[in-house]
Amino acid sequence: SLGVKPSLLKNQRLASARFGSTLAFIESSNDKISSSTLSTLNAAKELGNPIVAVSFNSKLQSELNKVPGLSKILLLENEKFSKNSPEILSPILAKLIQDQNLDVSHFVIPSTAVGKNILPRVGALLDIQPISDVIKIESASVFQKPIYAGNIIQTVESPADSKVLLSVRPSAYEAVELTSDSTYESQKLESDEINELNIKWVSENLTVSERPELTSAKKIVSGGRALKNKETFDKLIYPLADALNAGVGATRAAVDAGFCDNSLQIGQTGKIVSPDLYIALGISGAIQHLAGMKDSKVIVAINKDEDSPIFNIADVGLIGDLYEIVPELTEKLKN
Ligand code: FAD
Repeated sequence: SLGVKPSLLKNQRLASARFGSTLAFIESSNDKISSSTLSTLNAAKELGNPIVAVSFNSKLQSELNKVPGLSKILLLENEKFSKNSPEILSPILAKLIQDQNLDVSHFVIPSTAVGKNILPRVGALLDIQPISDVIKIESASVFQKPIYAGNIIQTVESPADSKVLLSVRPSAYEAVELTSDSTYESQKLESDEINELNIKWVSENLTVSERPELTSAKKIVSGGRALKNKETFDKLIYPLADALNAGVGATRAAVDAGFCDNSLQIGQTGKIVSPDLYIALGISGAIQHLAGMKDSKVIVAINKDEDSPIFNIADVGLIGDLYEIVPELTEKLKN
C-alpha cells in the first residue's frame, strides 16, 4: 500500500546511510519530461548515488529510458495524479523515501511551482528540514543556495544522520542530454490506496503560447516600464522576439501596468531564467528584477539613461531611445 499515516512518520528520527540512492521526482509537462526535471537530473548526478526516478505519469517511460545514468524507474499511475496535487503526491513520496528496499539517502525535485508545493510537505511528513533552491552541490551534505533575492549565497550542511531533501534551481544546471534507448528496470507501483482527502480539483486557466517557454528559452526579449502601454509593448517586443525566435519577458512594473500577462514576469517574485541571450529593453535593473535574470550568459541592455544600474551587469549596453533602436534592430535581424 502507498497510503501513509503522517502521524506515524512525524518525529521519527531517520537514521540512514549517507550514500544510499537518490530518489528523483520526474515532473511531466504535456506528457514529456519537463526541462526543469532534466536540469535537476544533472544536479542529481553530482550526488554520486544511484538515481531512482519516480514518475506519476507512465507515459514518460520511453523518454525516461533515454536519460543517461538512472538505476531504476518507478512508475505510479492513477487518474488522481494528473494534476500533481501536493496533498496526494507528498505522502506517497514520503513513504518511498522511507522504503527500506530503496534505501533513499537523497530526494531531489525541481524548484518549480510543483516542487515548491511538494517539498515542504514531504519535509513535514518526515520531520526533516528541506534545503530549497540549491544552485551548487559541494558534497553529498553541503549545498549552496541563494538568499535575499540572490544577493547572498548561503552554504548549508545537512546533519550526518538525516536523509537529505533538496529542491534544485533549474536555471543553475544544464539539462541532461537524452541518449539512445537504454532499458532500465521499471517497476509499476500500486497506488489504489490513496488517502481520501478533503480537496477537489476545480479548474485551471493556462496561458497557451507558441513561444519558447520562459524558463527554458535560449533567448529572451524583455520589456520594462519604458514600453508605456500594451500597444507599444506588443508592437516593439513581439516582432523583435519573433525575429530571434525568443521568449518574451517583462518586469514587474510592466506587468503591474497591464502591458502583458503576469506569467511573463521575471525576477524575485516572477520566473528565474538563465538564457544564452537576454535583451533588456527599457529596464532599469532593480535588484528584484536582476534576481531573476542575472545568470543569463549574455545580457544586452538598451536604455536611454547611461547611469541605469542595468549597465552594471550588461555585457553589451546601448545608450539610446528604444523607440528608435528597436524597430531598426528588428528590421536588420529580419533581413
Ligand atoms: P523602471 O525602474 O521605471 O525603469 C524604466 C527604465 O526605462 C529606466 O531605466 C529608464 O531610463 C528607461 N527608459 C525610459 N524611457 C526609455 C526609452 N524611451 N528608451 C530606453 N530606455 C528608456 N521587479 C521585477 O521586475 N520582477 C520582480 O519579480 C519583482 N519583484 C519585486 C518584489 C518586491 C518585494 C518588490 C518591493 C519589488 C519587486 N519588483 C520586481 C519591482 C522592482 O523593484 C522594480 O520596481 C521594477 O523591476 C522596475 O521595473 P522597470 O525596470 O520596468 O521600471
